[in-house]
Amino acid sequence: MKLWEDKVRRTVPYTPGEQPQGTNLIKLNTNENPYPPAPGVEAVKNTMDTGRLRLYPDPSAGVLVDALAEYYHVGKDQVFVGVGSDDVLSVAFLTFFNSQKPVLFPDITYSFYPVWADIYRIPYETRPLDEDFRIRPQDYYGDNGGIVFPNPNAPTACYESLETVEEILKHNRDVVVIVDEAYIDFAGDGKSALKLLDKYDNLLVVQTFSKSRSMAGLRIGYAMGCPELIRAMNDVKYSINSYTMNLPSLLMGAEAVKDKAYFETCVAKIKATREKTKERLAALGFEFPDSQANFIFAKHPDYEGKELFEALRRQSIFVRYFDKPRIDQYLRITVGTDEQMDVLMKFFEEYMA
Ligand SMILES: *Cc1c(COP(=O)(O)O)cnc(C)c1O
Repeated sequence: MKLWEDKVRRTVPYTPGEQPQGTNLIKLNTNENPYPPAPGVEAVKNTMDTGRLRLYPDPSAGVLVDALAEYYHVGKDQVFVGVGSDDVLSVAFLTFFNSQKPVLFPDITYSFYPVWADIYRIPYETRPLDEDFRIRPQDYYGDNGGIVFPNPNAPTACYESLETVEEILKHNRDVVVIVDEAYIDFAGDGKSALKLLDKYDNLLVVQTFSKSRSMAGLRIGYAMGCPELIRAMNDVKYSINSYTMNLPSLLMGAEAVKDKAYFETCVAKIKATREKTKERLAALGFEFPDSQANFIFAKHPDYEGKELFEALRRQSIFVRYFDKPRIDQYLRITVGTDEQMDVLMKFFEEYMA
């Protein structure tokens, strides 16, 4: 064994969802949006002066921060942007979770949280969701080093009310509470914890362009919080990599945010498809918690989750399966177009006939 091997920072990495390449497949495995980005994004592609790529981009990501601040009616000093919300969450973990006490998050949740905690040497503990996959707020009332949870949760798709979120905030005024709202736009108007921002200076709300805004390929995420939280995150960012956001991302991201009508139309279509899919899945005997996201977490009492996952895969229909305690009977199915869901449901109908 070479001596340097001893000094390597070993870590067990996050396993991203499979990204099969090809055209004749139905990809319902990583919660992407089936619709293209806003038309303004295409226009940027056609008009961008590639000569500008000679220069470094704006390290403060001004055009994008301004567009987000205007859209969400918050100050420009209340918005942090990063390379997908994975980058934003990673910076938030590094910035705010700096205690001997454990950070808390649910046992069934986004599986990146323990990975960041491990690599940054942050102690953590999980709190079990109840038997209906709901968060019990009182589980988060003890002494801790910070809290993070998605709302709606992944992969369960369960939405917790703002009252529940506020209960957790009220009992944790001395640590930062991160609400990961990757799917909040599918939950409905007025359900974001952004409403609580003025009341709680320890609240950080994280969102992304990857799902509701159809731009997973561009890698844009953002956080909103009080100016002190955002300043602290920027100090950490400028200590690692000042130029995180490339020029096309800044310009295309800003255009996407400005087109509210297109955004709302796409989200409404996905919600309508989701509700239809819920009915069809239930009619076939599937069981699932009520989804408030762009995916449905479903199991069937008569079929093994893994068996269904593999049978679908043989037909080039990709869904997500987690071989983990409590959830190994479930499939996480992204809501695609009506046509894609028709193919999926036809498959199930024939398979179960
Ligand atoms: C998809 C997802 C993210 C990360 O998305 P990015 O593409 O990095 O913006 C973060 N949290 C949850 C819960 C997600 O499902």
